[in-house]
Amino acid sequence: MSDSLPRQALEFSGEEMREIGYRVIDMLVDYHQSRADRPVAEKLDHTALDAILREPLPRAGMPWREVFEQFQRQVVESSNRVDHPRFFAYIPLANNFVSVMADALAAGYNIFNAVWLQGPGAAQIERLTVDWLRQLFGLPSAAGGTFVSGGSAANLTALAVAREIRLQGDTAGSVAYCSDQIHFAVSRGMRLLGFAPEQLRKLPSDAGFRLSVARLRLAVAEDRAAGLRPFCVIASAGTTNTGAVDPLDELADFCAGEKLWLHVDGAYGAPAVLTEQGARALKGIERVDSLALDAHKWLFQPIECGVVLLRDRRWLPRTFKETSEVLKDVQSEGKELNFMYQGIQLTRQFRALKLWMSFKVFGLDAISEAIVAGFENAALAERLLRAEGCWEIVTSAQMAILTFRYRPANRDTALASRVTHDLVGRLLDDGFAFASGTQLRGQSVMRMCCNNPRTTPKDLERTIQLMTRLAAQLEAELNGAVFS
Ligand SMILES: *Cc1c(COP(=O)(O)O)cnc(C)c1O
Repeated sequence: MSDSLPRQALEFSGEEMREIGYRVIDMLVDYHQSRADRPVAEKLDHTALDAILREPLPRAGMPWREVFEQFQRQVVESSNRVDHPRFFAYIPLANNFVSVMADALAAGYNIFNAVWLQGPGAAQIERLTVDWLRQLFGLPSAAGGTFVSGGSAANLTALAVAREIRLQGDTAGSVAYCSDQIHFAVSRGMRLLGFAPEQLRKLPSDAGFRLSVARLRLAVAEDRAAGLRPFCVIASAGTTNTGAVDPLDELADFCAGEKLWLHVDGAYGAPAVLTEQGARALKGIERVDSLALDAHKWLFQPIECGVVLLRDRRWLPRTFKETSEVLKDVQSEGKELNFMYQGIQLTRQFRALKLWMSFKVFGLDAISEAIVAGFENAALAERLLRAEGCWEIVTSAQMAILTFRYRPANRDTALASRVTHDLVGRLLDDGFAFASGTQLRGQSVMRMCCNNPRTTPKDLERTIQLMTRLAAQLEAELNGAVFS
């Protein structure tokens, strides 16, 4: 510790700070460069991990090096790598180094981005970055939004606005609609906002796992006839299960006719609007009242980078503004933006910085190409799976996601279903690559999400060969053909 300052200042000398900083950079760069050669999933040593849980609260400090080493050994080395090029489970989270450094800068300078007067430069960057996103989605110039922690917070924030603006906060008898493929973040958000489960109607999705406009029309008419108050339709722009995109344009027509709020959960898929095929799939997204997206998914930001966009930016302060004595003199309205009234956080991280820096450093063209790589990889994965001959594609590649199941010809389907179901565990044991399963209409399927732009064709080939081999092994074992 520094000689010149007392211990209670919690300071290091300049030399020590540099040493710590360089160590961190070395760790991160080594990780980044060696990631593809390591397994996706590590074999966990539970006894070593249990030791962490039993650690007493330290009374005296210890050398930082030891703490960093412990972190490396027990946390980094025991975590599955969600940014690994052969991680295809859930939603892979591939970040970029510029944004990682931007997060360090935001933390290091501790920029307080809640009130305009405290940091107009930061507020300006957040406003500009939100406006870039607004333009990308084709929303009108009156639209605006705010950065939040992620998709869950973005959905919750948008639905809080819908409740305030459409229902003036009175939820009695109100009803919102979505498909049965909606993300649980939406159901949870509705519950937290005081809606009872039956106030969110989860309509059976159509054959393509999309919200059916015909079913929606019927449900709304029935509810109106019963004296209820339909107020909101919640659509998915890329479900996590299959990548299905609800028919946004048709839904926007329907909502306009019925005077319903249209909210879109684009946490996973919305950034695809930067590409030609994504923009085609997402046609109508420019007509939403509110949109949730996650820049930490398909815009390659480090974790915690959600954004909520609203068709009219004045709706946010109408929902979230309160008065405060302490902050009275910084509450000036006008063209200044006080982000503390745009959502539920007062003190908030400067999350816009990472997206702003990466947009500037890479440029939109490179970022769109990175998204296109996801589409191409998913299409290639589908071709490779078909070529193996033992896989049945359940839902074709869309928004870089595909689902499939083990179905060799002339084989017992119950057994093949067991194989599909058990394969995830085998992949984890193997560690070379990881894909997860899901349930579609009660059936187990395997699923790959290919949105990591660092995945190579070779990664896909080797992953699919491995799945075929593990599936055949499993089948043989289940068949009792292996007596060992
Ligand atoms: C990931 C996801 C969410 C939740 O977002 P978080 O950032 O994990 O909170 C919501 N909806 C969809 C469609 C998602 O893919």
